Amino acid sequence: MKEFYHYTIVGAGASGLWLAYTMLKNGLLEHQTLCVVENDLDKKNDRTWCYWAENPINPIEINSKSWNFIFNELFLDKSESLNPYKYYHIRSQDFYSTIKNELFKCKNISWKFDEVIEIKEINNQIETNTASNLWYSERIFLSSYFKKREHQSYYKNDSSSIELKKNNSLFIWQSFYGWRIRTKQPFFNDTRMSMMNFNVDQGNHTQFIYELPFSEKEALIEMTRFGKEKITKNEAEIELKKWMNLKEVDFEIEEFEIGAIPMTNAFDIQPKTLNVDERVIFIGTPAGAIKPTTGYGFKKMQEYSEILCLALKSKNKIPSMLRKRRFRIYDILLLQILINKPEKGKLIFEELFKHQPIKRILKFLDEDTTLMEEIQIFSKLPVRLFMSSLLTYIIKK
Ligand SMILES: Cc1cc2nc3c(=O)[nH]c(=O)nc-3n(C[C@H](O)[C@H](O)[C@H](O)COP(=O)(O)OP(=O)(O)OC[C@H]3O[C@@H](n4cnc5c(N)ncnc54)[C@H](O)[C@@H]3O)c2cc1C
Repeated sequence: MKEFYHYTIVGAGASGLWLAYTMLKNGLLEHQTLCVVENDLDKKNDRTWCYWAENPINPIEINSKSWNFIFNELFLDKSESLNPYKYYHIRSQDFYSTIKNELFKCKNISWKFDEVIEIKEINNQIETNTASNLWYSERIFLSSYFKKREHQSYYKNDSSSIELKKNNSLFIWQSFYGWRIRTKQPFFNDTRMSMMNFNVDQGNHTQFIYELPFSEKEALIEMTRFGKEKITKNEAEIELKKWMNLKEVDFEIEEFEIGAIPMTNAFDIQPKTLNVDERVIFIGTPAGAIKPTTGYGFKKMQEYSEILCLALKSKNKIPSMLRKRRFRIYDILLLQILINKPEKGKLIFEELFKHQPIKRILKFLDEDTTLMEEIQIFSKLPVRLFMSSLLTYIIKK
Protein backbone atom coordinates (compact mmCIF):
# COMPACT_ATOMS: atom_id res chain seq x y z
CA MET A 1 0.00 0.00 0.00
CA LYS A 2 1.34 3.42 -0.80
CA GLU A 3 2.44 5.62 2.08
CA PHE A 4 0.32 8.77 2.26
CA TYR A 5 0.24 11.93 4.40
CA HIS A 6 -1.98 14.93 3.85
CA TYR A 7 1.02 17.23 4.23
CA THR A 8 4.80 16.92 4.03
CA ILE A 9 7.22 19.52 5.36
CA VAL A 10 10.79 19.32 4.08
CA GLY A 11 13.21 20.67 6.70
CA ALA A 12 12.80 20.81 10.47
CA GLY A 13 14.57 24.16 10.76
CA ALA A 14 13.01 27.52 11.61
CA SER A 15 10.27 27.70 8.98
CA GLY A 16 9.47 23.97 8.91
CA LEU A 17 9.04 23.73 12.67
CA TRP A 18 7.07 26.98 12.83
CA LEU A 19 4.69 25.67 10.22
CA ALA A 20 4.24 22.26 11.86
CA TYR A 21 3.69 23.90 15.26
CA THR A 22 1.18 26.40 13.87
CA MET A 23 -0.69 23.63 12.04
CA LEU A 24 -0.92 21.75 15.29
CA LYS A 25 -2.12 24.79 17.26
CA ASN A 26 -4.70 25.63 14.59
CA GLY A 27 -6.26 22.16 14.64
CA LEU A 28 -5.15 21.28 11.12
CA LEU A 29 -3.67 18.01 12.35
CA GLU A 30 -6.72 16.78 14.26
CA HIS A 31 -7.93 14.74 11.31
CA GLN A 32 -5.06 15.10 8.87
CA THR A 33 -1.57 13.68 8.82
CA LEU A 34 1.81 15.38 8.46
CA CYS A 35 5.24 14.00 7.65
CA VAL A 36 8.25 16.12 8.65
CA VAL A 37 11.47 15.15 6.91
CA GLU A 38 14.88 16.46 7.96
CA ASN A 39 18.29 15.35 6.73
CA ASP A 40 20.43 16.68 9.57
CA LEU A 41 20.44 14.01 12.27
CA ASP A 42 22.55 16.10 14.56
CA LYS A 43 20.68 19.42 14.66
CA LYS A 44 21.65 21.27 17.81
CA ASN A 45 22.53 24.79 18.82
CA ASP A 46 23.55 25.73 15.28
CA ARG A 47 22.52 29.40 15.47
CA THR A 48 20.89 32.07 17.57
CA TRP A 49 17.99 34.15 16.39
CA CYS A 50 17.30 37.75 17.31
CA TYR A 51 14.22 39.74 16.43
CA TRP A 52 12.42 42.84 17.64
CA ALA A 53 8.73 42.89 18.48
CA GLU A 54 6.21 44.47 20.81
CA ASN A 55 5.58 41.09 22.44
CA PRO A 56 7.67 37.96 22.55
CA ILE A 57 6.88 35.20 20.11
CA ASN A 58 5.06 32.29 21.76
CA PRO A 59 5.81 29.85 23.26
CA ILE A 60 7.44 32.35 25.54
CA GLU A 61 10.04 29.90 26.92
CA ILE A 62 11.95 29.84 23.63
CA ASN A 63 13.07 33.43 24.32
CA SER A 64 16.24 33.45 26.39
CA LYS A 65 16.79 37.20 26.80
CA SER A 66 15.33 40.56 25.87
CA TRP A 67 16.58 44.12 25.93
CA ASN A 68 14.56 47.31 26.37
CA PHE A 69 17.30 49.73 25.34
CA ILE A 70 19.81 50.22 22.57
CA PHE A 71 23.20 51.79 23.05
CA ASN A 72 25.65 52.88 20.41
CA GLU A 73 28.30 55.33 21.49
CA LEU A 74 28.80 56.56 17.94
CA PHE A 75 25.35 58.00 17.46
CA LEU A 76 23.68 58.00 20.84
CA ASP A 77 25.19 59.71 23.85
CA LYS A 78 23.00 57.61 26.08
CA SER A 79 20.80 54.53 25.86
CA GLU A 80 17.66 54.94 23.79
CA SER A 81 14.46 53.09 24.62
CA LEU A 82 13.29 50.60 22.02
CA ASN A 83 9.71 51.11 23.20
CA PRO A 84 7.23 49.85 21.89
CA TYR A 85 9.64 47.14 20.80
CA LYS A 86 12.00 44.90 22.68
CA TYR A 87 14.92 43.08 21.14
CA TYR A 88 14.71 39.32 21.77
CA HIS A 89 17.23 36.52 21.62
CA ILE A 90 16.56 32.82 21.04
CA ARG A 91 19.04 29.95 21.14
CA SER A 92 18.13 27.55 18.35
CA GLN A 93 18.50 24.56 20.66
CA ASP A 94 15.72 25.95 22.91
CA PHE A 95 13.53 26.52 19.88
CA TYR A 96 14.11 23.06 18.36
CA SER A 97 13.54 21.19 21.62
CA THR A 98 10.51 23.20 22.83
CA ILE A 99 8.69 22.99 19.51
CA LYS A 100 9.62 19.35 18.85
CA ASN A 101 8.45 18.33 22.34
CA GLU A 102 5.01 19.70 21.46
CA LEU A 103 5.01 18.07 18.02
CA PHE A 104 6.13 14.67 19.36
CA LYS A 105 2.89 14.50 21.36
CA CYS A 106 0.79 14.51 18.19
CA LYS A 107 0.11 11.05 16.80
CA ASN A 108 -0.71 12.46 13.38
CA ILE A 109 2.84 13.68 12.84
CA SER A 110 5.45 11.28 11.47
CA TRP A 111 9.18 12.01 11.36
CA LYS A 112 11.73 10.91 8.83
CA PHE A 113 15.45 11.53 9.04
CA ASP A 114 16.41 11.42 5.42
CA GLU A 115 17.41 13.67 2.54
CA VAL A 116 14.72 14.52 0.02
CA ILE A 117 16.26 14.27 -3.40
CA GLU A 118 13.31 14.61 -5.70
CA ILE A 119 9.63 15.50 -5.79
CA LYS A 120 7.15 14.83 -8.60
CA GLU A 121 3.53 15.74 -9.12
CA ILE A 122 1.57 12.60 -10.09
CA ASN A 123 -2.23 12.44 -10.31
CA ASN A 124 -2.78 15.48 -8.08
CA GLN A 125 -0.42 14.16 -5.42
CA ILE A 126 3.20 14.90 -4.64
CA GLU A 127 5.58 11.98 -4.65
CA THR A 128 8.52 12.69 -2.35
CA ASN A 129 11.66 10.65 -2.87
CA THR A 130 14.66 10.05 -0.67
CA ALA A 131 17.40 7.54 -1.50
CA SER A 132 15.55 4.73 0.30
CA ASN A 133 11.95 5.80 0.64
CA LEU A 134 9.03 7.36 -1.18
CA TRP A 135 5.64 8.61 -0.08
CA TYR A 136 2.74 10.75 -1.30
CA SER A 137 1.06 13.90 -0.01
CA GLU A 138 -1.62 16.32 -1.03
CA ARG A 139 0.71 19.24 -0.36
CA ILE A 140 4.38 19.70 0.29
CA PHE A 141 6.07 22.65 2.01
CA LEU A 142 9.69 23.16 1.08
CA SER A 143 12.21 25.03 3.18
CA SER A 144 14.92 23.64 0.98
CA TYR A 145 15.53 23.46 -2.72
CA PHE A 146 17.05 20.58 -4.59
CA LYS A 147 19.95 20.53 -6.92
CA LYS A 148 17.95 18.91 -9.72
CA ARG A 149 17.05 21.46 -12.31
CA GLU A 150 13.51 20.27 -13.01
CA HIS A 151 12.51 20.95 -9.41
CA GLN A 152 13.84 24.43 -9.51
CA SER A 153 10.97 25.28 -11.83
CA TYR A 154 8.64 25.06 -8.85
CA TYR A 155 10.04 28.34 -7.70
CA LYS A 156 7.76 30.28 -9.93
CA ASN A 157 5.39 27.69 -11.25
CA ASP A 158 6.80 28.34 -14.65
CA SER A 159 9.90 27.41 -16.51
CA SER A 160 12.25 30.00 -15.00
CA SER A 161 14.91 28.29 -12.95
CA ILE A 162 16.38 29.52 -9.72
CA GLU A 163 19.87 29.12 -11.17
CA LEU A 164 19.02 31.55 -13.94
CA LYS A 165 17.44 33.91 -11.47
CA LYS A 166 20.46 33.63 -9.23
CA ASN A 167 22.74 34.61 -12.07
CA ASN A 168 20.78 37.80 -12.60
CA SER A 169 20.31 38.56 -8.97
CA LEU A 170 22.38 40.39 -6.42
CA PHE A 171 24.25 38.37 -3.85
CA ILE A 172 26.56 39.06 -0.92
CA TRP A 173 27.13 37.37 2.43
CA GLN A 174 26.29 38.56 5.85
CA SER A 175 28.99 36.66 7.72
CA PHE A 176 29.81 36.83 11.37
CA TYR A 177 32.17 35.54 13.96
CA GLY A 178 31.65 36.21 17.64
CA TRP A 179 32.79 35.41 21.13
CA ARG A 180 30.48 34.57 23.98
CA ILE A 181 32.54 35.90 26.87
CA ARG A 182 32.43 35.93 30.65
CA THR A 183 34.08 38.71 32.66
CA LYS A 184 35.56 38.16 36.10
CA GLN A 185 33.77 41.19 37.59
CA PRO A 186 30.27 42.53 36.82
CA PHE A 187 30.83 44.75 33.83
CA PHE A 188 27.90 44.91 31.42
CA ASN A 189 24.61 46.75 31.65
CA ASP A 190 22.36 43.91 30.51
CA THR A 191 19.29 46.07 29.94
CA ARG A 192 20.77 47.45 26.74
CA MET A 193 22.22 45.99 23.59
CA SER A 194 24.31 47.54 20.89
CA MET A 195 23.70 46.83 17.22
CA MET A 196 25.60 47.94 14.13
CA ASN A 197 28.47 49.69 15.83
CA PHE A 198 30.71 50.74 12.95
CA ASN A 199 33.61 51.76 15.15
CA VAL A 200 35.77 49.01 13.63
CA ASP A 201 38.17 48.87 10.70
CA GLN A 202 36.10 48.63 7.50
CA GLY A 203 38.75 47.04 5.25
CA ASN A 204 37.05 47.23 1.89
CA HIS A 205 33.78 45.99 3.35
CA THR A 206 30.83 47.11 5.43
CA GLN A 207 31.44 45.76 8.89
CA PHE A 208 30.32 46.34 12.42
CA ILE A 209 29.97 44.88 15.90
CA TYR A 210 26.99 43.63 17.88
CA GLU A 211 27.21 43.52 21.65
CA LEU A 212 24.52 41.52 23.42
CA PRO A 213 24.99 41.32 27.20
CA PHE A 214 23.09 38.40 28.73
CA SER A 215 24.00 39.32 32.29
CA GLU A 216 26.41 41.67 34.04
CA LYS A 217 29.19 39.17 33.37
CA GLU A 218 28.23 37.52 30.10
CA ALA A 219 27.95 38.88 26.58
CA LEU A 220 28.10 37.96 22.92
CA ILE A 221 30.48 40.24 21.04
CA GLU A 222 30.11 39.61 17.34
CA MET A 223 31.92 40.99 14.32
CA THR A 224 29.66 41.10 11.26
CA ARG A 225 30.48 41.75 7.62
CA PHE A 226 28.27 42.54 4.64
CA GLY A 227 30.50 41.56 1.73
CA LYS A 228 31.35 39.37 -1.22
CA GLU A 229 33.80 37.39 0.91
CA LYS A 230 32.94 35.93 4.27
CA ILE A 231 34.83 37.28 7.25
CA THR A 232 37.57 34.91 8.46
CA LYS A 233 38.17 33.95 12.08
CA ASN A 234 41.49 35.76 11.91
CA GLU A 235 40.05 39.00 10.53
CA ALA A 236 37.23 39.01 13.06
CA GLU A 237 39.50 38.25 16.02
CA ILE A 238 41.75 41.23 15.24
CA GLU A 239 38.75 43.55 15.61
CA LEU A 240 37.27 41.67 18.58
CA LYS A 241 40.59 41.93 20.44
CA LYS A 242 40.82 45.68 19.73
CA TRP A 243 37.22 46.09 20.88
CA MET A 244 37.79 44.25 24.14
CA ASN A 245 41.14 45.95 24.80
CA LEU A 246 39.36 49.30 24.84
CA LYS A 247 37.08 47.98 27.57
CA GLU A 248 40.00 47.09 29.84
CA VAL A 249 38.22 44.17 31.45
CA ASP A 250 39.41 40.61 32.18
CA PHE A 251 37.37 38.00 30.39
CA GLU A 252 37.28 34.41 29.17
CA ILE A 253 35.86 33.15 25.89
CA GLU A 254 33.22 30.49 26.58
CA GLU A 255 31.84 29.83 23.10
CA PHE A 256 32.36 30.90 19.52
CA GLU A 257 29.60 31.77 17.11
CA ILE A 258 30.19 31.62 13.42
CA GLY A 259 27.74 31.80 10.54
CA ALA A 260 26.75 33.31 7.25
CA ILE A 261 23.42 34.36 5.79
CA PRO A 262 22.85 34.92 2.07
CA MET A 263 21.84 38.51 1.33
CA THR A 264 20.12 38.21 -2.01
CA ASN A 265 17.04 39.14 -3.95
CA ALA A 266 17.21 35.76 -5.74
CA PHE A 267 14.22 34.47 -3.79
CA ASP A 268 11.95 37.46 -4.49
CA ILE A 269 10.38 35.60 -7.38
CA GLN A 270 7.17 34.02 -6.21
CA PRO A 271 3.77 35.08 -7.50
CA LYS A 272 1.91 37.25 -4.97
CA THR A 273 -0.75 34.66 -4.37
CA LEU A 274 -0.77 30.93 -4.93
CA ASN A 275 -3.76 28.96 -6.14
CA VAL A 276 -6.04 27.33 -3.60
CA ASP A 277 -4.93 23.92 -4.90
CA GLU A 278 -1.20 24.75 -5.10
CA ARG A 279 0.58 21.56 -4.07
CA VAL A 280 4.17 22.80 -3.73
CA ILE A 281 4.57 25.73 -1.38
CA PHE A 282 7.87 27.32 -0.45
CA ILE A 283 8.48 28.45 3.11
CA GLY A 284 11.49 29.98 4.85
CA THR A 285 14.61 30.97 2.96
CA PRO A 286 13.58 29.81 -0.54
CA ALA A 287 10.25 31.63 -0.11
CA GLY A 288 12.14 34.91 0.33
CA ALA A 289 11.67 35.06 4.10
CA ILE A 290 15.08 36.56 4.79
CA LYS A 291 15.23 40.28 4.14
CA PRO A 292 18.11 40.75 1.68
CA THR A 293 19.58 43.80 3.41
CA THR A 294 19.36 42.72 7.04
CA GLY A 295 19.43 38.91 7.19
CA TYR A 296 16.46 38.91 9.58
CA GLY A 297 13.63 36.51 8.80
CA PHE A 298 12.82 34.43 11.86
CA LYS A 299 9.81 36.50 12.99
CA LYS A 300 8.46 36.70 9.44
CA MET A 301 8.56 32.89 9.19
CA GLN A 302 6.45 32.60 12.32
CA GLU A 303 4.00 35.21 11.01
CA TYR A 304 3.81 33.51 7.62
CA SER A 305 3.01 30.14 9.17
CA GLU A 306 -0.08 31.77 10.75
CA ILE A 307 -1.11 33.27 7.41
CA LEU A 308 -0.56 29.96 5.64
CA CYS A 309 -2.59 27.97 8.19
CA LEU A 310 -5.43 30.47 8.00
CA ALA A 311 -5.53 30.12 4.20
CA LEU A 312 -5.37 26.31 4.40
CA LYS A 313 -8.19 26.22 6.93
CA SER A 314 -10.45 28.59 5.05
CA LYS A 315 -9.53 27.03 1.68
CA ASN A 316 -8.82 30.52 0.35
CA LYS A 317 -6.10 31.63 -2.05
CA ILE A 318 -2.71 31.31 -0.41
CA PRO A 319 -0.63 34.48 -0.09
CA SER A 320 3.07 33.90 -0.82
CA MET A 321 5.87 35.55 1.14
CA LEU A 322 6.53 38.03 -1.68
CA ARG A 323 7.19 41.42 -0.11
CA LYS A 324 5.77 44.78 -1.19
CA ARG A 325 7.36 45.98 -4.42
CA ARG A 326 8.79 49.24 -3.07
CA PHE A 327 10.60 47.43 -0.25
CA ARG A 328 12.06 44.98 -2.76
CA ILE A 329 13.34 47.96 -4.75
CA TYR A 330 14.83 49.66 -1.66
CA ASP A 331 16.66 46.42 -0.93
CA ILE A 332 18.02 46.25 -4.47
CA LEU A 333 19.26 49.85 -4.27
CA LEU A 334 21.09 49.21 -1.01
CA LEU A 335 22.45 45.81 -2.11
CA GLN A 336 23.87 47.43 -5.25
CA ILE A 337 25.64 50.03 -3.13
CA LEU A 338 26.96 47.40 -0.72
CA ILE A 339 28.28 45.36 -3.66
CA ASN A 340 29.71 48.16 -5.80
CA LYS A 341 30.73 50.66 -3.13
CA PRO A 342 31.18 48.63 0.07
CA GLU A 343 33.11 51.46 1.70
CA LYS A 344 29.91 53.56 1.67
CA GLY A 345 27.92 51.13 3.81
CA LYS A 346 29.21 52.63 7.04
CA LEU A 347 28.20 56.15 5.96
CA ILE A 348 24.68 55.04 5.03
CA PHE A 349 23.98 53.15 8.24
CA GLU A 350 25.54 55.84 10.41
CA GLU A 351 23.37 58.50 8.78
CA LEU A 352 20.33 56.30 9.27
CA PHE A 353 20.98 55.80 12.98
CA LYS A 354 21.98 59.45 13.50
CA HIS A 355 18.89 61.02 11.97
CA GLN A 356 16.07 58.60 12.66
CA PRO A 357 14.51 57.49 15.92
CA ILE A 358 15.22 53.82 16.49
CA LYS A 359 11.49 52.99 16.44
CA ARG A 360 11.17 54.33 12.91
CA ILE A 361 14.25 52.39 11.78
CA LEU A 362 12.91 49.12 13.18
CA LYS A 363 9.49 49.77 11.68
CA PHE A 364 11.15 50.47 8.33
CA LEU A 365 13.21 47.28 8.52
CA ASP A 366 9.99 45.42 9.31
CA GLU A 367 8.56 46.97 6.12
CA ASP A 368 5.68 48.49 8.07
CA THR A 369 6.41 52.17 7.40
CA THR A 370 4.22 54.45 5.32
CA LEU A 371 5.52 56.07 2.13
CA MET A 372 5.68 59.39 4.03
CA GLU A 373 7.93 57.86 6.69
CA GLU A 374 10.13 56.34 3.99
CA ILE A 375 10.53 59.75 2.34
CA GLN A 376 11.61 61.14 5.72
CA ILE A 377 14.18 58.35 6.01
CA PHE A 378 15.59 58.62 2.48
CA SER A 379 15.76 62.42 2.62
CA LYS A 380 18.43 62.12 5.32
CA LEU A 381 20.46 59.46 3.55
CA PRO A 382 23.22 60.22 1.01
CA VAL A 383 20.86 61.05 -1.86
CA ARG A 384 23.45 60.89 -4.67
CA LEU A 385 24.42 57.33 -3.79
CA PHE A 386 20.83 56.18 -3.94
CA MET A 387 20.09 58.14 -7.13
CA SER A 388 23.02 56.54 -8.92
CA SER A 389 21.95 53.12 -7.63
CA LEU A 390 18.43 53.82 -8.91
CA LEU A 391 19.88 54.71 -12.30
CA THR A 392 21.82 51.41 -12.39
CA TYR A 393 18.62 49.58 -11.48
CA ILE A 394 16.64 51.28 -14.26
CA ILE A 395 19.35 50.64 -16.88
CA LYS A 396 19.69 46.96 -15.91
CA LYS A 397 15.95 46.30 -16.02
C1 LIG B 1 23.96 31.48 11.58
C2 LIG B 1 22.66 32.19 11.27
C3 LIG B 1 22.15 33.13 12.15
C4 LIG B 1 20.93 33.76 11.87
N1 LIG B 1 20.46 34.70 12.76
C5 LIG B 1 19.27 35.27 12.52
C6 LIG B 1 18.71 36.19 13.46
O1 LIG B 1 19.34 36.54 14.48
N2 LIG B 1 17.48 36.70 13.23
C7 LIG B 1 16.77 36.37 12.11
O2 LIG B 1 15.64 36.85 11.96
N3 LIG B 1 17.28 35.54 11.19
C8 LIG B 1 18.51 34.98 11.35
N4 LIG B 1 19.02 34.11 10.42
C9 LIG B 1 18.30 33.94 9.14
C10 LIG B 1 17.16 32.91 9.20
O3 LIG B 1 16.23 33.24 10.20
C11 LIG B 1 17.69 31.50 9.45
O4 LIG B 1 18.57 31.14 8.42
C12 LIG B 1 16.59 30.45 9.52
O5 LIG B 1 17.09 29.32 10.17
C13 LIG B 1 16.09 30.08 8.12
O6 LIG B 1 15.04 29.17 8.27
P1 LIG B 1 14.74 28.10 7.15
O7 LIG B 1 13.65 27.25 7.62
O8 LIG B 1 14.62 28.76 5.84
O9 LIG B 1 16.10 27.25 7.05
P2 LIG B 1 16.74 26.31 8.14
O10 LIG B 1 16.44 26.79 9.49
O11 LIG B 1 18.16 26.17 7.72
O12 LIG B 1 15.98 24.93 7.93
C14 LIG B 1 16.06 24.17 6.74
C15 LIG B 1 16.18 22.71 7.16
O13 LIG B 1 16.03 21.88 6.02
C16 LIG B 1 16.92 20.80 6.13
N5 LIG B 1 17.13 20.31 4.76
C17 LIG B 1 17.77 20.95 3.76
N6 LIG B 1 17.72 20.23 2.63
C18 LIG B 1 17.01 19.11 2.93
C19 LIG B 1 16.64 17.97 2.17
N7 LIG B 1 16.95 17.87 0.88
N8 LIG B 1 15.93 16.98 2.78
C20 LIG B 1 15.59 17.08 4.10
N9 LIG B 1 15.92 18.16 4.87
C21 LIG B 1 16.62 19.16 4.28
C22 LIG B 1 18.15 21.43 6.77
O14 LIG B 1 18.96 20.44 7.41
C23 LIG B 1 17.53 22.39 7.77
O15 LIG B 1 17.34 21.81 9.03
C24 LIG B 1 20.23 33.47 10.67
C25 LIG B 1 20.79 32.54 9.79
C26 LIG B 1 21.98 31.91 10.07
C27 LIG B 1 22.54 30.94 9.07
